[in-house]
Formats: sequence, C-alpha cells, structure tokens
Amino acid sequence: MTPSEEEPLILDAETHGVPLSKIDVNARKVLNRLHEAGFRACLVGGAVRDLLLGITPKDFDVATDATPDEVKRLFRNARLIGRRFRLAHIRYGRDIIEVATFRAPHEEAIEDAEALVEHTGRILRDNVYGSLEQDVWRRDFTVNSLYYDIADNAIIDYTGGVADLREGILRMIGDSEQRYHEDPVRMLRAVRFAAKLGFRIDPEAEHILTDLAHLLQGVAPARLFEEFLKLMHAGAAFDTFEMLREYQLFGQLFPETEEMLQQDEGGLFEQFIRNALKNTDKRVAEGKPVNPAFLVAVFLWRPVVRAQEVQIAEGLPPFVALQKASHAVLSREVKHVAVPKRFSIQSREIWELQQRLRGTRGKRPLRLINEPRFRAGYDFLCLRAHSGEDGLMALCEWWTKFQEENPVKSKREPSAPRRRQPPRRRSRRKKPASSA
Ligand code: ATP
Ligand code: MG
Repeated sequence: MTPSEEEPLILDAETHGVPLSKIDVNARKVLNRLHEAGFRACLVGGAVRDLLLGITPKDFDVATDATPDEVKRLFRNARLIGRRFRLAHIRYGRDIIEVATFRAPHEEAIEDAEALVEHTGRILRDNVYGSLEQDVWRRDFTVNSLYYDIADNAIIDYTGGVADLREGILRMIGDSEQRYHEDPVRMLRAVRFAAKLGFRIDPEAEHILTDLAHLLQGVAPARLFEEFLKLMHAGAAFDTFEMLREYQLFGQLFPETEEMLQQDEGGLFEQFIRNALKNTDKRVAEGKPVNPAFLVAVFLWRPVVRAQEVQIAEGLPPFVALQKASHAVLSREVKHVAVPKRFSIQSREIWELQQRLRGTRGKRPLRLINEPRFRAGYDFLCLRAHSGEDGLMALCEWWTKFQEENPVKSKREPSAPRRRQPPRRRSRRKKPASSA
C-alpha cells in the first residue's frame, strides 16, 4: 500500500523490526512519561530513519501533542528554549532529549505572534501547534518524516519515507523550491544526508540547488557555523565537500577558498583540502575527536597566504604580514560562517606555527613542542608536505624525529584540545528554523 495524506502506511513492530532496546533509555523515559500522562508521544526524525537503516542515531528527538508548557509541567528537568521555534529540552546529565510539539500550517494561527513569514518566503516564526497528521508535512525530507509511536511501537509513514529509505532517495516533502525559500539551510541538509547516507537527491530537489545557492546569504552566519560543524563531523566530510562544490554551495560558505580553488582546479590546494577531509573522516570513523579550528585553518590557508604575500610586497616582515593577513581573512570569513573566537584563535596559531616551525635551531624546538597548539601545527605542516607543497617534506620529517627523541610530558592530544564537555545535543536552532 502507498501512503497518502489521509492513509498512512503503518509498519507494526514485527514488520519494521526495530527493537525497543535500540532507543536510548532517556528518550524512552520521556516517551513513556508523556504517553502515561495521556499525550501522544513519538520518536521522530533522524533517529527513526537511522534505526531503520541499522545506524546508531546521533540524537533522539521526540514529537508530541503536549504543548511546551505542558511538557515543562510534566518534567522537572525540562527547560523551554527558542522563541521562533519553541521547544523543550529535557536533560539527563550530559544527555538532552529534545521534545517538540506537533506544528500545524500557518493558516491555523490564531495570533500573529505564532507565525511569521518574510517576503522572501523565509519562515521567521513557527509556533502554531497542531496534530501529528499536520506535523508530518512541515518536515524537510520524506525519510525524516517517520514517527515511531510509543503507544504501539508502530512506525507511521504519511509521506512515503519508508519506500524512499529503501531506495536510497532523499525526497523533499512538497515543492522543493518553496521549501528551500522557507529555510535555505535545507540545501545544506540535503547534501549532508546524501553524503552521509549515500543517498541520491531526488532530481526535483537537486536540479535547483545551484540556482538557489545564493539564498544562503540570507542565513545567519552563526547558524551556518553550526551547520558547517554538522557537515564536517558526520563522517563523510570528503564526499560532502565534493557535493557542496558541485552544487556551488561551498562558495557561499567559504567564498575566498572557492575563488582560490577555481584558479587552480585540481591543484595543490585542492589536494591539501581533500587530504585533510579524508583524515577527518578517518578520525570520526575511529571515534576520535575532530577540532573545527583545524579545518577552518585548512580551508582558509591559501587565502591567508595570498593576503600575506600582498602584505610582504608592501614591505611588512613575513611574520607580521601573516598576522595581519590572518586577521583580515578571518574578519571577512565570519560574515559568511561565524567561526567563534575560541576556534579562530586556534586557527591563527596553527598558521603562525607554519612559520615558527621553520626555526629548528637552538632551544626553540624544545619550547615549541610543549606549546598547546604544536601538534595541530605539526600535523598541518606534514599535511602540506604530503599534499605536494615544495620543500616541506624534510622539515616534516625533522619534526617527526625531534618528537621521537623528545617525548612531550603531557599525555593529552594537543591537536584536539579538551574543551568543557558540551551536552550531547548541540544545536538549539532547529526545525523549519528561522535564520534571522
Ligand atoms: P541528524 O540528527 O542525524 O543530524 P536529523 O534528521 O535528526 O539528523 P535534526 O537536525 O536532528 O536532523 O532534526 C530532527 C528532525 O527535525 C529532522 O529529521 C526533520 O524532520 C526536522 N527538521 C530539522 N531541521 C529541519 C528543517 N530545517 N526543515 C524542516 N524540518 C527540519
Ligand atoms: Mg536528529
């Protein structure tokens, strides 16, 4: 049977075969408590999709007909967040379960304050509550619109997500162009899921990506940074990068990088980026942490070198020229992707180390290897060497040997500094989110 607007496809527990035990215990607690209080409670989104694919979900989202205030009353550990898309975060230690109330189309709004759409079609506020049957249609892709109902453990499919999942198709719900206008980040999400799941984007949603890429200029740079993290840390950064370039989305995120890549298609810089992304994917696959500052340093490396050359030509000494160039490139970049200071500071240190690592005489090397960013700077240098930059291999090897002979006291891995542990669920801006 094919699902439709009125008749969903229902897969009972036996048919879909996803054992309850695969659902995170805290998510189960939330679902059960809501259900026992008489509310409808479903696991939704990426978790259902991934469970059906046999992948361990990254986070567990819950959808319910309880309003945010009702959720808050039911859970002592709940906190309401988001003005434009109001929802509840329920916290269990470091784990956060996100509970969203079903949304209805904006025509159902009683007050203007609940719904707001910009003249461009971009959704600025989305707080009109509704039923599961209405909620289904405002999700982005069919495979993200499956609901696991805790009442009977069945999976509910109104949009054909189950069939698309089987065929490996990422299909937008509704009119793709309109949905991209509502929230341009959906273009990046399309690429992210296609790369991560190895799915193909349905032609209807695919063919307009390049034409609409410019819409990303209207998205808040802070939200683009969050999305950039997801794009790079999902374990498929290499494929993601290739696809982003193919659809000309990459240039919207890193315009100067794209410019340099176009000047030297297939050249050393491209090789360097690809090698860095392959390493990133390998680290993710091995469960190792990846530091966004490193990738930012990689992407902006050529633009920084170019800016440094200009400064040197104007008479500045190389190190000062580098510092000035780093500052200039980063301040232009944050207008597109708002790299937080705590990361951009590290990117600058990595760049500076490229120069400082040239000094291999006297006491300096010993001092350098004990600096916090040394390992990242060294990795960066060797990555450049292995990507074919002239005259760096000997230097990379020199530092490799020097470290073997002078083991660093501290055991932690400096290229991935330990930060305060963030909660497992990072993104706060979600759903047909606004970007203003
Ligand atoms: P993952 O968590 O693996 O990155 P996900 O699909 O769960 O993928 P989330 O960002 O966690 O993505 O969002 C949960 C669900 O909320 C999605 O599956 C989708 O149904 C809906 N959603 C999220 N962002 C949007 C958006 N921009 N537009 C429409 N629906 C969205
Ligand atoms: Mg999710």
